[in-house]
Amino acid sequence: MTPNGPTALGSRSEEILAELWRLRERDAPTHGGRLLSYVYDSGRAELDALAGAAAELARPVNGLDPTAFPSIAAMEGDLVRFMRRALGGALRRPFDGGPVVGSVTSGGTESCLLAVKTARDLWRARQQTDDPVRRPMPRIVAPETVHAAFRKAALAFGLEFDGVPCQPDGSVAAADIVSRLGSDVALVVVSAPAYPSGFLDPVGEVAAAAKARGISCHVDACFGGLVLPWWPGLPLWDFRVPGVTSMSADLHKFGYAPKGVSVLLHRGRVRHRAQFFATTRWPGYPVVNPTLLGSRSASPLAAAWAITRRLGDDGFADLTQSCVRSVSAIVAAVQGSREAWSARPGIPGLAIWGSPTGPAVALVADESVPPSEQVDPHHLADEMARLGYRLQHQPGFTQANGVRLPHSVHLTITPVTEGTLAGLITAMRTAADAVRGKPAANPWLELGALKLLGYGSAAVRSRVPGPRVAWLILRVAGAGGSSLPGNMAPLMALVELLPAPVAEALLTELIARVSEP
Ligand SMILES: *Cc1c(COP(=O)(O)O)cnc(C)c1O
Repeated sequence: MTPNGPTALGSRSEEILAELWRLRERDAPTHGGRLLSYVYDSGRAELDALAGAAAELARPVNGLDPTAFPSIAAMEGDLVRFMRRALGGALRRPFDGGPVVGSVTSGGTESCLLAVKTARDLWRARQQTDDPVRRPMPRIVAPETVHAAFRKAALAFGLEFDGVPCQPDGSVAAADIVSRLGSDVALVVVSAPAYPSGFLDPVGEVAAAAKARGISCHVDACFGGLVLPWWPGLPLWDFRVPGVTSMSADLHKFGYAPKGVSVLLHRGRVRHRAQFFATTRWPGYPVVNPTLLGSRSASPLAAAWAITRRLGDDGFADLTQSCVRSVSAIVAAVQGSREAWSARPGIPGLAIWGSPTGPAVALVADESVPPSEQVDPHHLADEMARLGYRLQHQPGFTQANGVRLPHSVHLTITPVTEGTLAGLITAMRTAADAVRGKPAANPWLELGALKLLGYGSAAVRSRVPGPRVAWLILRVAGAGGSSLPGNMAPLMALVELLPAPVAEALLTELIARVSEP
C-alpha cells in the first residue's frame, strides 16, 4: 500500500530490487548478534516490522515544516516528552530556567554539533564586545574520550577543543576537568558513558562546577540515553543534576530506530531557541530551521515514535535488563570469576578496559602477564571476523600529556546478544587461543615499504599525502580495501604510528575510494 493506492511492482522494478538484495548480501550481518557495533538490535522482529511500517507511512512528508505536516509536530512533541522524563527532566522547578524542551535531530553528530553551536551563541551573547577580533576564541573542555563529534563541532563553529587527558584506564578525574574551566569556556562536555571505554564521566562534580561559573554543561548520552535510565545502581547523571544544561540521546542506538534520529534537550526555552536558525532575509519562504538540515525525512522520527510508544518504560526496562545480564556474562567470561562456588578461569591474556558502566565494553591486552601470554585485541578482532563476529578496532591514543590510552576493541552489547552469548564467548576463547602471544602488528614493516616510495624519513612522513600518493601507500601497506575487514590490525598500527594529519589523509582516501565510481 502506498499513499497513491495499492501498487504491484512491474517486472523491471522487481529486477532492481533483486539487484539491491544481491548488493545487501555483502553487508555486515545487521541482525542475529554477530555485529557488535553500528547496528542496535533489539532482537525483536516485531519492533523492526513496526519501525518499517511507521517509516513508510511518514515517508512522503517533509520535516521542514510542522505547520504543513502537523503529524511531525505531534510525534516530535511526544518523543521530547518521553525523553525528558527518561532523562530526569520532567520535573519543573521554578529556579531551573524553565521546562526541559528540545528537538529531534538526524543523529548523534547533529545533536552534538547543535549543542556546541547553542552554547557558543549563548557565550557570545554574554561577551562584552561584538568585535570578533577582541573576543577570545571560545573553548570546549571535555575528556579526550568524548565523542569525535565534538572535535568536528569545534572545527565547524570556530571553537578550540581542549581535551582533558584521561587515566590509562579511560577514567577522568573531575578535578582535572574543573581546573580548566575559565571565562573563555563556552561548553564543558561529559559523556554518559564515553563510547570508547564505557566510562561514565563524573557528571555531578563537573556540572556543579560549571553552574557555579555560569558555564554551559552538556551530557552526551547519545550512547547511553536509552539504556542508562534503566541501568541499576548509578549515581545521578542526567537533568536531575543541577548545572546540566543540555543532553543528547540517540534514538537510532538503544531506541532501536533506523538510522537518522536523535534528540537534543535543553534546560529552559531560552537555550532551546538559541539552537534555531531563522531568517526572513531572502526572497523565498521565511526559513525557520530548528536543526542543521532544511528538508528532512520524517521516516526515522516516525519509526522512533512508534517504537517508544510500543515499548514504553517497561519495555525499555526489560531490554536494558537483558543488556545488563549480557555485559556481566561477558565481563565474567573475560576476567573469570573468583567465587569459590563458581571459579572459572576467564580468558588468559585478555582484559576489560577500565570499569565500564552500561552496554559498551572494550577489550585490551592484559599487561599484567608476560607478552607471550597476552592477547592483542586487534589480532583477536581480526580472528573473530574470520569466525563471523565483527568487533570494532580502536587504535591506541597518545594524549597531550604523553599518557597513552591502550589500543582496544569495542563491543556494543544489545538485547540480541543474550540469545547468542554462548556462541560469542566461545568465539572469543577460540580467537584468543589462536592469537595469544602474537605481538601487536608491526607498522615498521609497512613503513619499510613506504621507504621504497620515498616516504622514509620522519620529515617526509609528516607531509600530508594527496589522493594519489595516499592510495599508493595504502596499497603498499596491504590496506587497499579487499583485505578488510579480516585484517585491520596492520592498518590500525599504521594509524597509531603516523602523525595524525597523515593517518587522517590515508583513511580519507580509503573511504573515498570505496565508493568512487
Ligand atoms: C554515537 C555517538 C555519537 C555520534 O552519533 P552518530 O549518531 O554516530 O552521529 C556521539 N556521542 C556518543 C557518546 C556516541 O556514542
